[in-house]
Amino acid sequence: MTQFLSSTGIVEQYLTFFRARHHTELPGSPLAVPGNSTSFIIAGMQPLLPYLRGQQKPPSPRLMSLQRCLRTDDMNAVGTNIGKNTSFFMLGNWSIGDYSKYDAIEMASDLLLNVFKLDKEKLWVTVFEGDTDMNIPLDEKAIESWQRVGMPRERIVALGVDDNFWTIGGGPGPCGPNSEIFVDRGLAYGCGKSDCQPGCSCDRFLEIWNLVFMEYERFPDGRLEPLPFRNIDTGMGLERTASVLQDTESVFSIDLFQPAIARLNELASPGIVRNDGVERLARRRILDHVRAVLLAELAGVMPERDGRGSNVRRLIRRAASQGRLLGLDKRFLGELVAPLAIAHGSLLTSDEHAHVSDIARSITDEERGFQRVLTKGLKYLTHLEPDEQGVIQGSKLFELHAEHGFPPDLAAEILSERGLTVDWSSYEFASEEHRRVSRLSAEKHFRGTTRS
Ligand SMILES: [Zn+2]
Repeated sequence: MTQFLSSTGIVEQYLTFFRARHHTELPGSPLAVPGNSTSFIIAGMQPLLPYLRGQQKPPSPRLMSLQRCLRTDDMNAVGTNIGKNTSFFMLGNWSIGDYSKYDAIEMASDLLLNVFKLDKEKLWVTVFEGDTDMNIPLDEKAIESWQRVGMPRERIVALGVDDNFWTIGGGPGPCGPNSEIFVDRGLAYGCGKSDCQPGCSCDRFLEIWNLVFMEYERFPDGRLEPLPFRNIDTGMGLERTASVLQDTESVFSIDLFQPAIARLNELASPGIVRNDGVERLARRRILDHVRAVLLAELAGVMPERDGRGSNVRRLIRRAASQGRLLGLDKRFLGELVAPLAIAHGSLLTSDEHAHVSDIARSITDEERGFQRVLTKGLKYLTHLEPDEQGVIQGSKLFELHAEHGFPPDLAAEILSERGLTVDWSSYEFASEEHRRVSRLSAEKHFRGTTRS
């Protein structure tokens, strides 16, 4: 039987386990990448790149860390499945040319089964099936290692490049085959298809840990060359692991979110929306986005028009608009900040805890500025008439954006809840036309001034 473990308990046990196996703990890097105005840390290994590439000597060949990450590339998908947060904590252990693939697999299996007491029958893994173009064979060593630690062959699934060859966002850099560890959440989460297995897009198999066997450097022309040494790079998602060990329906209902869920339920009683799916999505997104904003602001990234801060602003606006779906027409996001911070306990420093009320205030300020835009925009959207196919002309969303500053992606999302889609080519056309007209008037103005 899987045992209940709190999120902070998971972190503690993970670090204790690897400390006993001679891993040196690195402090997590700041969420906002230093020397870069747009990016956030998106993976636990990012700060370790110089070590993995052999450009810098690591403090020890065995490393571990707890890293905060934030991904803003696919906000629309957040809430639509059980495992994706905008911000998350990633636990990782690394070997810089030290231990083997088998060692990495043996330790992972030991931690999951003997410390976390996960049900053995629920574990599945994937390995790289090989690729002829890359001249890399099936990862027999990984299969053999998993079998050696007791994983039945039928729960070891070989997948291709897209699933099991890890690269930095598909680009150049250190890379290699990987082995992902999944938990079978049961048929109730599944798509019901006969070929449903890890790698399926449904919610049945939840990936909790990725073991990357980082052995190559990929060059911009696609060429692969062996790295100076074979590394192990792993990343375990804290929220996903907590969701499994706490047996919650998704990452949005683990202990880190519970007090904020309770506060949100007080503000907007459950069952307020006729459509369950819409309500669940709205609640998940509000919790997710406010937590992401909390972590971003703790890292000093405030809501702004441009750069990294624009993501924070967008998250606040998206969360505020989801509140309208729950019938919340007053400011409410700031109320969720303290319950979130309290639930995060020792995951935040005492210095960070001291800043929580400032952050709640800053979120409320941003929300206030957006209220009027939101009210006007929502009213405008309810009056839009679709064509017979349920399509809204994108030019209408362009007008809304140009005149009132209402984000078009948000408008599209709100329309999609009424089953409507947007003709984006019409949006592009209107936007191009707008640019052309302003260019013409600027030229005219310019000619006018030079002539006089
Ligand atoms: Zn499936």
